[in-house]
Amino acid sequence: MKILHQTRTLPALLPRYVERFRCIGAECEDTCCRGWAVTIDKKTFKAYREVKHPELRSNVVKSLSHQHSQATPDNYARIKLDSESGACPFTQQGLCSVQKNLNESYLSHTCFSFPRHSRNFGGQYEQALSLSCPEAARQALLSRDAFDFTEELITVRMEKVGKVGSVHGVSLELMNEIRILCLKLVKTEDLVLWERLAVLGLFCECLTELLTKGKQAEIPSLLANTVTLIEQGDIKTTLSSMQPDYRSQAVVFASLWSGAGFAANSAIQKSPVQEAIVKAISRGLGADPETGHASHDQIVEAYMTGLKRLPEALKVAPFLLEHFVLNEMFRDLFPFKGNSPYEAFLQLISQFGLLRLMLAAQCNSGDTLPDETVLVHTAHVFYRRFQHDLRFAQVNQALKNSGLGKLEKVYGFLRT
Ligand code: SF4
Repeated sequence: MKILHQTRTLPALLPRYVERFRCIGAECEDTCCRGWAVTIDKKTFKAYREVKHPELRSNVVKSLSHQHSQATPDNYARIKLDSESGACPFTQQGLCSVQKNLNESYLSHTCFSFPRHSRNFGGQYEQALSLSCPEAARQALLSRDAFDFTEELITVRMEKVGKVGSVHGVSLELMNEIRILCLKLVKTEDLVLWERLAVLGLFCECLTELLTKGKQAEIPSLLANTVTLIEQGDIKTTLSSMQPDYRSQAVVFASLWSGAGFAANSAIQKSPVQEAIVKAISRGLGADPETGHASHDQIVEAYMTGLKRLPEALKVAPFLLEHFVLNEMFRDLFPFKGNSPYEAFLQLISQFGLLRLMLAAQCNSGDTLPDETVLVHTAHVFYRRFQHDLRFAQVNQALKNSGLGKLEKVYGFLRT
């Protein structure tokens, strides 16, 4: 059997849910190829141009388009998806015809890797998953032990494994200590989730200040002080005086929702699963079925009603929001993504706030509360739209304009 792309099998640090994940192929309710531009790397494109298999040959001729002026080695060509269904033309009865008629080594880098993200952190390999895959979302969001870490073998294409370098003048060893503390903070059982995020914001603000002033040597003291702050328990009393700002939560996150093309009347193509989720959320936010519009007062009222019902709904998926946050943090090497730890924190809470709004809207969209399937689909649809939408790169500026540049204001956005 001819091998196109070589792989290596290596030991790696994984959350348990990554180890448990298996692609469910034809059983998948919202396959990864549907509705997205599937990119093809140069080596795979050239190999596809040579294939003789009649069925694959006709798809290659009809459905592969070279990127011409914008081509890069990784984004050299695209697969044109079916204009009506949004499905990949290489898929038959839910199975990939490249895998069936050639072998897995002929998959493009995008198709081979998805939903996995692999990296080398100081010689330690790690892997996380994108929750835009519904099966990955189920595994990550529903099991209590999904974010216990384990060492297992992974198979990767080495050219697609990211390598982490030191940032902000912080050594890799210290970066590792910082991110482990951040992950532990979000797992602190004595605090509820919004309180954990509030402490994380305080930590990121202090860390950013040290980095800005070139005081990297003081970071170990900051880590120790943060641990003491949590162990003493006084932080709970301090945070209890913070008041929730439901109006801002509803208006800011609803504008992110519609700005990302989530709204039911958006022209962005959606799969049937995505269509159902988006319609339910628009209804739950009080949007007019024809125009998709709702006044701020309607949105605030709908959000607050849904928010009151959310704890009851989450009894069937009690770890959903916490695991969603942990996945973002682990996958994005929090807090080292973006210009500063505080910016990484703002990005994280904008994702948390938007998903919470979507879940609250689900709780206000019908007579019964959403079940486990709907809750997980809401999270996976969030990922489908949000993770790959470049407009969200500007989200921090929008949040800063709403006052989130200051930590005191952030508490009002977090608290429920
Ligand atoms: S979305 Fe996930 S489960 Fe579905 S086909 Fe893709 S990798 Fe497999």
